[in-house]
Amino acid sequence: MKLFDTAYLRMTAWYVLIIMAISLIFSVWVYNQARNELRFGLGRALPAQYSFNNNGVQMTRLPESGFSKIVVNERLSDSHRRLVVRLVGLNVAVLVAGAAASYWLARRTMRPIEESVEAQHRFTADASHELRTPLAAMKAEIEVGLRDKKLSKDEAVALLHSNLEEIDRLGGLADGLLALTQTDDASVLVPISLEDVASKVAKRLQPLADSKKIEITRQLEPVIVSAEEAAVDKIIGILLDNAIKYSLTGTAITLRTYQKDGHGYVEITDQGIGIKASELPHIFDRFYRADSSRSKVHVAGHGLGLSIAQQLAESLNGKIQATSTPGKGSVFVVKLGSVQS
Ligand code: ADP
Repeated sequence: MKLFDTAYLRMTAWYVLIIMAISLIFSVWVYNQARNELRFGLGRALPAQYSFNNNGVQMTRLPESGFSKIVVNERLSDSHRRLVVRLVGLNVAVLVAGAAASYWLARRTMRPIEESVEAQHRFTADASHELRTPLAAMKAEIEVGLRDKKLSKDEAVALLHSNLEEIDRLGGLADGLLALTQTDDASVLVPISLEDVASKVAKRLQPLADSKKIEITRQLEPVIVSAEEAAVDKIIGILLDNAIKYSLTGTAITLRTYQKDGHGYVEITDQGIGIKASELPHIFDRFYRADSSRSKVHVAGHGLGLSIAQQLAESLNGKIQATSTPGKGSVFVVKLGSVQS
């Protein structure tokens, strides 16, 4: 992204500026120290005479001869020159190495931000695409209706019904998008009964199951886990709703709660259409819908349910795993936080 290319360069420039400021201050200090040491050291090279008095040994510089002064000054300026060359060389090396290291560090620091901005862009593009589809359908239907001069009352009612369905779809999408943003908040975990929440959700979705003559078998062990009731309710609701949606009429669904290795589990098994192995790794991605759900069974949805459920499970320190056999059914297992006694 162009925006980030400029940001990398700016950040690199700032890092280099800081490194060079430190390096130059250090070089000036080294230069001053070395110059004083040189003066002192070479000054001592001049002839001296020692005498004794009541205070001990006294050292007195002999008057400098013209020759020794020239030699000392020559050596001094020679050493200064070499010192300056070395310090300049050192600073150039620091500049080159510092620039390379700074660019690498800038990329490393900015990478997560760049990824998150890319994800935001993808999300916005996908969301607008999902919004456009029902809007385009509604617009086309209304335009056709308006152009038809002999539109009967029944046809107008059918058109309104169809529009209402699309509006419901849009409402569902808006709810899903809102749920995705809200699950970012940290959850407050308290002891809850998995059995109670699961049976409440099963009762709520029973009419939907009845409409497809699907029997929900409950195998609910009493398990208390540390979680948030509303989030667990929503997770089970999404999974059970999917199990019903992607099952054929007259099949069975099993809803289980159990505990294992200190964790509480909810398991939902259906005898539905199943998910291909190649599609399984993507079903938790936002807006992903497996081919079979789009073409074969024409189930309504936006591909947001499972990503919301996974995000909620993660906010409870849990996770969801799925296994499936196409044509036979799927199993979704929710692992939740530690079991409370
Ligand atoms: P939606 O159901 O709205 O399409 P989800 O995020 O809930 O979105 O599911 C993503 C996809 O995963 C679905 O489109 C479907 O292809 C697949 N899927 C989810 N649950 C099941 C299931 N129980 N049986 C078969 N396929 C499923």
